[in-house]
Amino acid sequence: MLNKLVRKNILKLVPYSSARDEYKGENGVFLDANENPYGIINRYPDPYQTELKNKISKLKNIAYENIFIGNGSDEIIDLVFRIFCEPAIDKALIFTPTYGMYKVAADINDIEILKIPLNSDFDIDKSSVLNILNLHNLKLIFLCSPNNPTGNSYSPKIVEFILKNFKGIVFIDEAYVDFSAKESWKEKINIYNNLIVSQTFSKAFGSAGARVGMAFADKKIIELFNKVKPPYNVSTVNQKVVAKTLDNILDYEKNKLLILSEKERLKKELLKLNLVKKIYNSDANFFLVEVENADFLYNYLIKKQIIIRNRSSLVKNCVRITVGTKEENNKLLLEMKQI
Ligand SMILES: *Cc1c(COP(=O)(O)O)cnc(C)c1O
Repeated sequence: MLNKLVRKNILKLVPYSSARDEYKGENGVFLDANENPYGIINRYPDPYQTELKNKISKLKNIAYENIFIGNGSDEIIDLVFRIFCEPAIDKALIFTPTYGMYKVAADINDIEILKIPLNSDFDIDKSSVLNILNLHNLKLIFLCSPNNPTGNSYSPKIVEFILKNFKGIVFIDEAYVDFSAKESWKEKINIYNNLIVSQTFSKAFGSAGARVGMAFADKKIIELFNKVKPPYNVSTVNQKVVAKTLDNILDYEKNKLLILSEKERLKKELLKLNLVKKIYNSDANFFLVEVENADFLYNYLIKKQIIIRNRSSLVKNCVRITVGTKEENNKLLLEMKQI
């Protein structure tokens, strides 16, 4: 069943076999990879990030063989197109407004993107998808939940409906799920073998600079990812940095709680300002905020060296504000009170 969704050239592909694929032992005299015997980081990284995957497996309660690690989730998004979507033939579906990388990755891979607007609660209307799930050549659906830039999660009912009725690949991007009280979809990979759930170390784990994202899926999908990825896609340095944050999981919990309490305070304070018209409910570490004049606010804050994201091209007069430290949030509030 899955094989029908995979591009023929990928099914046929004989993957690159690296030195570390052919000999997996850890000790010995390594004269097989043309590495320099000198240097502080002279050896190639573990191509399958075994140590890191074992830690993730424990943390997330997902089996090792159901985990893929990418050079950021962005690599994973690109790989999904390359594995499943035939250029100039297949199509992918997104619900707008949403994360910009899906469209960019689609354009790079020459895949047509179909867009369905979210409803006024930024949720997905069942009626809007009824006729599209069986569309010929629709291979891939992206669900960003919690969604960027709106901050909300989709109702579980509609996600379940799509999972039950779509025969292609369903990609649920959970970059912000660690901030959310709502449940992840990651356990459902055991029920739906066409489901890919992606998460990242870039947001709640505070390691955006390390470029480490992960995907959870059926073993057969993970095997395809491993086949197509560049052999050494995650550097040793990046693997180690992230493994270290997992060893300090209490720091992670502490910082997350700090961000979440600042989030509530920031919301309360922002709502006191006249120029703030509405703050959308958010399950993430940011808010979509409707203001009187988004362009004005954005430019005003830039002059004060406070940088927020102007999202008014996506949602009228809306800006996206990330929750910072207490001091950073106070600076923002102080400047906004002057307007
Ligand atoms: C920030 C973000 C990511 C993270 O991407 P990385 O490449 O892992 O840093 C993924 N998806 C969404 C929706 C995001 O907002």
